Amino acid sequence: MAHLIKERKKNDLLCNVCGRALRMEKGMLLEDAFVVSKEWGFFSSRDLEVHRFTICENCYDQLIAQFKIPIEVFDKSEAL
Ligand SMILES: [Zn+2]
Repeated sequence: MAHLIKERKKNDLLCNVCGRALRMEKGMLLEDAFVVSKEWGFFSSRDLEVHRFTICENCYDQLIAQFKIPIEVFDKSEAL
């Protein structure tokens, strides 16, 4: 089992990598972030657990820079 998320201030969205609180105003996110929700299936070792985390744009840049194969990037208009 994954350890439980510590109690945190309501409505605070924190980057799980660096712990920084993302800029929010009246419940609206003022910066974009990589928000992941993953439901692990039967063919994983984490039967039906749901994992959720947020990565700020800076940490996202650092994360994908470590990839051996670069991510694919599309313009939104092309992806449709
Ligand atoms: Zn971060």
